Amino acid sequence: MESPDHVRVRMLDVGICGTDREILSGGYGTPPPGDDYLILGHEGLGEVVETGPEVSDLRPGDLVVPTVRRPCPHPACVACRQGRSDFCYTGDYTERGIKELDGFGSELWTVEAAYAVRVDPSLGELGVLVEPASVVAKAWEQIERIGARAWFEPRTLLVTGAGPIGLLAALLGRQRGLEVHVLDRAPHGLKSSLAEDLGAIYHSSSTLEDFLEAKPDIIIECTGAGQLVIDSLTTTAAAGIVCLCGLAPGGRAHRVDAGVMNREIVLENDVVFGTVNANLRHFRAAAAALAEADREWLGRLITRRVPLTRALEAFEPAEDVKAVIDLTS
Ligand code: BGC
Repeated sequence: MESPDHVRVRMLDVGICGTDREILSGGYGTPPPGDDYLILGHEGLGEVVETGPEVSDLRPGDLVVPTVRRPCPHPACVACRQGRSDFCYTGDYTERGIKELDGFGSELWTVEAAYAVRVDPSLGELGVLVEPASVVAKAWEQIERIGARAWFEPRTLLVTGAGPIGLLAALLGRQRGLEVHVLDRAPHGLKSSLAEDLGAIYHSSSTLEDFLEAKPDIIIECTGAGQLVIDSLTTTAAAGIVCLCGLAPGGRAHRVDAGVMNREIVLENDVVFGTVNANLRHFRAAAAALAEADREWLGRLITRRVPLTRALEAFEPAEDVKAVIDLTS
């Protein structure tokens, strides 16, 4: 191994998300400096095949998930200097498969052992869900920290969007004993049964009308859809928390009554915050949450598995949940 603190990993699966589709369409992402292409893949699951001489906590055969972001180089960025590149202040961080670093969409790759998280072998190929779950684990950590500003006894959670992030957010909500509502425009079908099998209540809708009376304590907004984002700001109970996880392209204008929005948020002590990315401890929390979850349910999140030879199919938008490219076939 050329780098003593790295491990070489044989790629098993790479998950595809909205970010990958946006990169493929040319709307996001940056190749490594000097290159005119970027190897995609930031949701990885692989098997360690070789370890550098300085690596003591990973062994060949271990299943690992690599983290995505690497710190910026600026000494003044206290977040990056403290291992919190998920909060990088400068924006000069890099991300595997997204921003200036190649991703994990190749049969073999290397990664710093410090950025590889071991996955419970019993999770097997479900380990590919650790990266999206890490984003959700960070969101939950932030919600709980914000909640700790006063008392924190939430009862109800609304998740908007029943994609992988939304359903994993609902899973972590159920693991916390909350009454969970999942809203998605998809008619009753796979997404509703996934939500209901978690013990959540599914709402096939694209508005928050159902929640005008009984407002949830927490909303995790995973669609990025303008109107839902705006409406979520005024649809929480007092001391409510709105966590924005979704992203959507700009360019669509919406009318907002800023006065009403302001009054709601101020008079109810509400908090609205955004969250992106995840660091090492969120990956570990995600791996632990998945290890506790029902395997059959997790398996149903992976709705499409395509071989490398048909990799492009995984990028085609479909009304499914998670598409995965199997690099071993
Ligand atoms: C990834 C994050 C990343 C973000 C922005 C998401 O799809 O999960 O790790 O920070 O895109 O690039």
